[in-house]
Amino acid sequence: MNLQPDRPLLRSLFILLCFASLLCSGCAAVQRQPQIAEPISSITPDRCEQELSSFLELGSRACWKPEETAATIDFLTRKLEDWGYQVIREPLDLPRYPGNANLIVEKVGHSEPDQILEIGAHFDSVGNLGADDNGSGVIGVLEAARVFSTLETGRTVRFCLYACEEVGLLGSRHHVEQILAEPEEEFVGLINFEMIGYTDTQDGSQGAPIRIPFLADLPHTGDFILVAGNFSSGWLGNRIEAHIDAYEPQLKYYSANRISGFFADAARSDHSPYWEAGLDAIMLTDTANFRNPHYHEDSDTIETLDFEFMARIIRAVTACAIDWAGTSFAP
Ligand SMILES: [Zn+2]
Repeated sequence: MNLQPDRPLLRSLFILLCFASLLCSGCAAVQRQPQIAEPISSITPDRCEQELSSFLELGSRACWKPEETAATIDFLTRKLEDWGYQVIREPLDLPRYPGNANLIVEKVGHSEPDQILEIGAHFDSVGNLGADDNGSGVIGVLEAARVFSTLETGRTVRFCLYACEEVGLLGSRHHVEQILAEPEEEFVGLINFEMIGYTDTQDGSQGAPIRIPFLADLPHTGDFILVAGNFSSGWLGNRIEAHIDAYEPQLKYYSANRISGFFADAARSDHSPYWEAGLDAIMLTDTANFRNPHYHEDSDTIETLDFEFMARIIRAVTACAIDWAGTSFAP
């Protein structure tokens, strides 16, 4: 018989309170601001669909096929240059995957240029069209970059299109090395779009690697976006969620902030090398094979996607990034 039954109970309550306070730190509500709502309103479902349709005309984007890689890099470079960006290529220099490079552009802040938030997505596919994986994520980065091209900001937002994700996160791994080589910059965090286009409103359409009641128990209907962060990057996930609440209240999300670092399945994309390097990063995903039956199949095509859902996610993230970067009145 336990002689001190109250102590474990008190200890459990204390741990629970600590955990709750940690989860809630950074939960401050966000007020919708007209100067942010206005620019993000140009990110419409129709626009996302048209942009994705023109991107998918490239066909397959296998990183082991140099001609497909070259066509994709040319397309994305021209697109970003049209909006006034200077595109930085980060060559991967991999004999097995010749010609591959990450594409990077920056909206440099006027007052605190060394403070850097990144928005990223991989552009390669497994040799299929990859409309959801990861054409949808590419459109997320492009649309956010397009909106930022019209703004002046205080801090810097960097847009990253990674090569060679499907063969082992090689592009993002290389990019993290570049970040670590610039210690004078203050890297703040990454928001990674990994498949943001697929929904299914039928009950039972959402699978899960594991369900843990109250902690990691995904809804059973696949109509939400998953916000996945490890412990240290939870603040950024909270910020994204607060901007969904303020700007896109109809968008359902499931918060796996702070806890996703414990799940192997939550590390299967380009934010993972950031976590390994101790850098903050959040993944936004429709959960890939746990919802989308076309994952890594030839049937991952544009007709299967939900552009209302995709546009809401991109608008909320862009609002979050604009709010973080601040406006500037520099000459
Ligand atoms: Zn992917």
